[in-house]
Amino acid sequence: MRPTRAIIRLDAIRHNLEAARRLAPGSRNIAVIKANAYGHGAVEVARSLNETLSAFAVATTDEALELREAGIEKPILVLQGCNHREDISEAAARQFWLMLHERSQVERVLQKPTTRPLAAWIKVDTGMHRLGLDPAEAGALCRQLTTAEHIQQPLVLCTHLACADEPEHSMTTDQVASFRSFAEPLGLPMSIANSAGIMAWPQARADWNRPGYMLYGNSPSKAFGNETGLLQPAMTLQSELIAVREVAAGEGVGYGQRWVARRPSRIGTVTIGYADGYPRHAPSGTPVLVNGKRVPLVGTVSMDLITVDLSGIEGAAPGDPVELWGENLSVNEVAASAGTIGYELLAGLTRRVPRIYR
Ligand SMILES: *Cc1c(COP(=O)(O)O)cnc(C)c1O
Repeated sequence: MRPTRAIIRLDAIRHNLEAARRLAPGSRNIAVIKANAYGHGAVEVARSLNETLSAFAVATTDEALELREAGIEKPILVLQGCNHREDISEAAARQFWLMLHERSQVERVLQKPTTRPLAAWIKVDTGMHRLGLDPAEAGALCRQLTTAEHIQQPLVLCTHLACADEPEHSMTTDQVASFRSFAEPLGLPMSIANSAGIMAWPQARADWNRPGYMLYGNSPSKAFGNETGLLQPAMTLQSELIAVREVAAGEGVGYGQRWVARRPSRIGTVTIGYADGYPRHAPSGTPVLVNGKRVPLVGTVSMDLITVDLSGIEGAAPGDPVELWGENLSVNEVAASAGTIGYELLAGLTRRVPRIYR
């Protein structure tokens, strides 16, 4: 079997959920497990959190159906809601909660496409300008939903923060204030905070929080610090060296020969590549752990392989363990080197990488 695998620690995810709870003891949490639980396996993560949570959230009804078909029975919030009559009645039948973000969605739901009670969250746009009702139109739509007999009461009012990962960004203060001034007079349960909101913005903690990224053990912002103290990384992406060779000064390595040895170098080849989700844009110098020691990636990332410079460490040989990110090397650091964020690396891990649950 290929040694490339993602070790997933479900106990770390439970630990991180507890950390979210300790930060916001007055809130209930809805675990965001969209995009296959950010690459960690939505069904496995849902099963492991099922006992301690009231609900899960995913992006789409397809993702919610996959969880139902795997036997997950808790309510599942669908963050994008849905637009088609059949999807709405299926949502009611399957106990999905719909986050309604657009007037047309609310109108379709009000046309009573289902006789079963339907739970709805109303998303308000407080400045992110991606999804959400204008607060000016949301009040009237909420009143109609509140009196519709097929809608479960109470509605939950929510918004999404655009800049919560930037400490002291004035946008967050403004978004929370404008949301609260819309929502509080309606007297309905509220939800504002994603991971960054939970970790850094006490005023964003409300009846329901929506932690995603932090559950998987990484901080949504390097500005928050203390990454390892509060959270435990749940995924460690591992592989092995499968070849080691010496190259002379002046010789190139890999496609395009983009990296050229300045001195005689020992090059190791690792069986992982962009078809596994390792970022193709990671430049030479991106850290990789071989036998627990940091070495630089060198040359272009290939589909199935990467090359690293072993010259700085002793005795590395084929079969030696490699960590690409996880417990000992932050996915955020690898992502920053590749010009992206840890979210993209975790969510982008492909099916070719077996997930091994601990
Ligand atoms: C993805 C998502 C979240 C979770 O965000 P994190 O930054 O991963 O915690 C919360 N709310 C909504 C609406 C989302 O789309």
